[in-house]
Amino acid sequence: MNKLKEHKTILVGLLLCLSLIGEALVIILGSAHRDISGTVNIGKVEIPFNSLQGTIQTFTLMCCIMMACVDCYFGAAVSAILVSLMATMTSFKIIMSRNLAPVPGVLNGLLALVVVLLIGYLLRRAKKKSITDYATGLLNSVGFHEVLNKRIREKKSGSLVYYQINNFRAINDDYGHDIGDQVLRVAASRMKKVVSEHGNIGRIGGSEFAILLKNDVNALEVVKNIFEELNVKIQIQNDGIHLDCYIESNAGIAHFPEDAKDSVNLFKCADVALMQSMDEGSNKIAVFDEKMSSKMHEEKKMEQMIKKAYDENYFFLEYQPQFSVNDKKLRGFESLIRMNSPEGGRISPGQFIPVAEKSNLIFSIDEYVLNFVTKEFASLVKNASYELTISVNISANGISRPEFVSIVKKCLDDNGFPPKNLEIEITEYSFEDSQDQTVKNIKELKNLGVKVALDDFGTGYASLARLMNLSVDLLKVDKSLVDDIEKGKVNRDFINSIGSMGHLLNCKVVLEGVETVNQLEYIKDLNCDYVQGFVWGKPMSYEDAKSLI
Ligand code: C2E
Ligand code: CA
Ligand code: CA
Repeated sequence: MNKLKEHKTILVGLLLCLSLIGEALVIILGSAHRDISGTVNIGKVEIPFNSLQGTIQTFTLMCCIMMACVDCYFGAAVSAILVSLMATMTSFKIIMSRNLAPVPGVLNGLLALVVVLLIGYLLRRAKKKSITDYATGLLNSVGFHEVLNKRIREKKSGSLVYYQINNFRAINDDYGHDIGDQVLRVAASRMKKVVSEHGNIGRIGGSEFAILLKNDVNALEVVKNIFEELNVKIQIQNDGIHLDCYIESNAGIAHFPEDAKDSVNLFKCADVALMQSMDEGSNKIAVFDEKMSSKMHEEKKMEQMIKKAYDENYFFLEYQPQFSVNDKKLRGFESLIRMNSPEGGRISPGQFIPVAEKSNLIFSIDEYVLNFVTKEFASLVKNASYELTISVNISANGISRPEFVSIVKKCLDDNGFPPKNLEIEITEYSFEDSQDQTVKNIKELKNLGVKVALDDFGTGYASLARLMNLSVDLLKVDKSLVDDIEKGKVNRDFINSIGSMGHLLNCKVVLEGVETVNQLEYIKDLNCDYVQGFVWGKPMSYEDAKSLI
């Protein structure tokens, strides 16, 4: 792009020189040949002066038109000046010489002026269209990059903001594309109002915007103001229906030239900051720093390792037993995935699951575990003398997939695993997005006979209403609460009330991460049913799980 820009400037310069040389020739020859009926000798060739002047001027006019075509702004302006000068000079000559012979030249010049201006206008219009986003009227990606590259070429400093509306897809899905476009237009005009003379703004993707801010502007303040503006509900009237839309967004800020000296890397930095802000939740802003970049790099490396582990089968599973508090009877096992990579050795799911959750890799992992576990345990659970429950962890994104239930059903059917022996563990975060689909899937799973457990309970804010509505089978009290069991009565009362609430809602309660016999002593007096922890059983191999059964 930069190269093309340089070439354009060189070409216009060259054409300008050629036209100036042509004009100079006409003037020199003109002053040497006042008598326009005379001839000019070039070597031994005699050329009528009129013809030579006409040829040179036509050549100059061609140069002018080409200049306008090559660079619509600068070329058209320069050539318009040049052609006007030519026409004025020729008119002056007519007046001075009182000879009308050059009149066609003047007309030629004026015609060329009109052509040059028309070309300039048409090209400018086409150019404007090519750099404008049709939906919002802001710059599009091409236009924004042009402005950014120009600023970088001029060695100016400033900030780049990468801004994303997170729930745009949901708005489109819920209300249709027309409403989506209207929301986008309102959001864009509010953003433009805030940015105003502080810089430029462009829409560079479906719901992604880029803002280029001048050096003396506090980028963080501007972005905060944009958030404030966009936090106000957007009211849309459509076919007499009144809709209130709320926007959720995130923003990443990078500075140039400090963070990056070219637009590609600058965008990468702003993108890294945007990802970081998204990790922190909705409506958050992050400013790029080097640490973020290395975190991103590590995540990319991990992503590659996960892909390889999946392709080359480096995953394996361990199973952690759950026991009744009262009689230590085995309830079943929670399956826990492990990765054993030749490069990185054994890697815990705490490290790779969050990375996989940021991409579609988690879907492959969820499916892999479901299939593996139902295959491995099918005959064991069918032949057991009592009901064994095998739990599988499913990511928040996985449980909200429309095809999730059919995937579970296929695993059960293919492997002949009884639905009542399978338990799907989800967390409260599963309800943050795509709530409706998640709730629908849970209900369908329950209809199939599969159990549902709510994992890490007590760390988020699962509402009672939701729990009543979902009728989950098991509440898994998070280890962080269990860790505090010995600290005081308040902590124990808290767990006790979770237990009572669980029983009220007809679900069983398991305490996770129980590590000591001392904790067990307290747990016996609490209103809970099961224990899962190192004290009674660490995650173990399938063979060990089989012996335990
Ligand atoms: P989680 O579902 O809460 O799993 C319980 C974690 O606590 C397991 O760690 C388990 O080994 C650990 N744990 C159990 N008892 C004790 C204890 O007494 N003391 C201590 N310190 N830790 C205990 P793990 O296996 O490292 O798994 C970590 C997380 O990774 C899991 O948390 C779960 O969120 C995720 N995960 C594991 N396997 C899968 C899987 O197959 N699919 C998905 N989507 N996520 C998985
Ligand atoms: Ca779990
Ligand atoms: Ca847990």
